[in-house]
Amino acid sequence: MSVVSYEQLRTELVPCVLHEPPDGYVPVPVTERLAQAIWFDQRLKRDGLQTADGRRVRVVSPGWWNLEAGPDFHRAVIAFDDARPQLGDVEVHLHSADWQQHGHTSDRLYDNVILHVALWRRGEQPVMTATGRALPQLVMADQLDAPLDQLYDSIDPENYPYDLDSHVGACESPLKSASPETIAALLEDAGLARLRTKARRLTRWIQRAGIEQALYTAVLEALGFKHNKEPMRRLAKQLPVTRLRELPAVQAQALLMGVAGFLPERTVAGRDEATRRYVKRLWDVWWKARDEFAGVTLSRDEWRLAGLRPANFPWRRLAAVAQLLAEHWELWPKIADALVSQPASKRAARLTALLTDLEDPYWSQRFSFASKPQSKAELLIGAARARDIVVNVLLPAAVAQGRLLEQPVLVEAAENIFAAHPSLESNALVRFTAHRLFGQRVPPRLLRTAVRQQGLLQVFHDFCLNDRSACQRCRFLELAGQFAAKQATL
Ligand code: SF4
Repeated sequence: MSVVSYEQLRTELVPCVLHEPPDGYVPVPVTERLAQAIWFDQRLKRDGLQTADGRRVRVVSPGWWNLEAGPDFHRAVIAFDDARPQLGDVEVHLHSADWQQHGHTSDRLYDNVILHVALWRRGEQPVMTATGRALPQLVMADQLDAPLDQLYDSIDPENYPYDLDSHVGACESPLKSASPETIAALLEDAGLARLRTKARRLTRWIQRAGIEQALYTAVLEALGFKHNKEPMRRLAKQLPVTRLRELPAVQAQALLMGVAGFLPERTVAGRDEATRRYVKRLWDVWWKARDEFAGVTLSRDEWRLAGLRPANFPWRRLAAVAQLLAEHWELWPKIADALVSQPASKRAARLTALLTDLEDPYWSQRFSFASKPQSKAELLIGAARARDIVVNVLLPAAVAQGRLLEQPVLVEAAENIFAAHPSLESNALVRFTAHRLFGQRVPPRLLRTAVRQQGLLQVFHDFCLNDRSACQRCRFLELAGQFAAKQATL
C-alpha cells in the first residue's frame, strides 16, 4: 500500500505549488504567493520594466492585496508608455497561460484588471477579459531585481500581507506621535460622520418611498451582504413592502421566493413530506400571483451562492424577512419603541433581538429545499449579522426619521447607542485600513467599539479609496493634525 504524504498531496492539489520551472532553473518550491509578494514588494528592475509586447511600464502603486474572491490586487496605479497612470486591478500567476487555465477569460470579477503579471512565460495566447478587452502582460522572471533563489530566501510569503511594516501608509509613521486619546477621538468623530452620511442616504429613501419601504429595502440589502446586495435591492423594488402588507409569513415567503426566482418546481418528488407540503403551500399562493410579476421576476442565476455558508443562503434570509413583516408589519414603531421606551442599557439588545428572535417552522431547521432537517435549529439571522444591521441600517434610519419627524430625542438616542455599541465582527477592510494607518502596532483596545471601526472605514473611503498617488498627495495627515490641534485647545 502506498503512503501518501501531505507534501505529495499538496503538490498535486494546491495549484500554486510549482514542480518544475520551465527553463531548467534549480527548482525551489515557488508558490503563487511568492510571485504575489514579489509583485507587492516590486522586486523588479523598475526603471526598464516592460510588458511582453514591449510597452514601457511604470508602477505607481502595485495595489492593495485582495484576500477575497477576484483579482489578487485592487486599485493598482500603472502607467503604460507615456500615457497617464490608470487605476485598476492586477492578477498575478506563476505562468502566463494560467489566466486562461483559471477561467478568468469568462469571469466578470476580472473585468477591471489592467495588467496580467506572470512569473514565467508559458504559451503565447492573448490575455482577454470577459468583455473582450486584450490585457497587457508583464513577465517578471527576466525583470527581477535579484535572482529568484535569492528572492526565495529573502521573502517569507507567510508574512504577507499584514505582518510586515512595509506597505503601511505614509500616515503610519506620523500617527505614532499622536496620543491614543487623540486617535480614538478622531475615529469616533469619523464614525459619527459615517452614521450621518448613511442617515442622509436613508433620508432620501424615506422621502421617496416612506419609512417602511426604506427599512425593508435597506434590511434586504444588508441581508444580501457583499455579493447579493444588488439582487436584494431589485427584489425590494419589484415586490414593494406594501404588497406584503399583513400577509401571514408563508404567503409573504411565497411572493418573496417567487419574485426572487427561488421557488422549486411544483412537484418536488423525492423530497421529504415536510418539504413537499411546504412547497405546495408556496405554490398555492404563487400560481395566483405570478402573472402580476411577469417580466420582473429575478432568475436564480442572478444570485451568487458560491462561497456562502449554507446558513446564509438568501432564501433563508427571505424567510426571515417574511417572518419579520408578519410579526412586526410596521417596523418603525418597534424601532422607535426600542430607542426611547426601553431602559438605555437594553436598547441595543432590543433592536438586535428584533432580528435574532425570528424563527420559521421550516427554515429554522433547513439550509435549502433539498437539505435534510438539522437536528438543531439555526438562527435565520445570526447575532453578528443582526448587530451589523442595527449599526448600519436601523440606527442610521432612526437618525434620518428622527430628523424628518423633528424628534431630536430619537436622533440623540440612536447616536448614543451607536457611540457605545461594542465592535462588530472585524473584516478584511477594517484589518487592511488598520494596517495602513497603524502598521503592526494598532493601539490596544482602539477598535473595541463599533463607532471607531466605522471611523476607520470612513477614513478608508474618504482618503485611501480616493488616493491615486500611493499616499503622496493624501491629505489625511493634514486633517489629523488640525483635529489634534483643536483637541489640544479643548
Ligand atoms: S491614502 Fe492617506 S490615509 Fe490612506 S494610508 Fe495613505 S496616507 Fe494614510
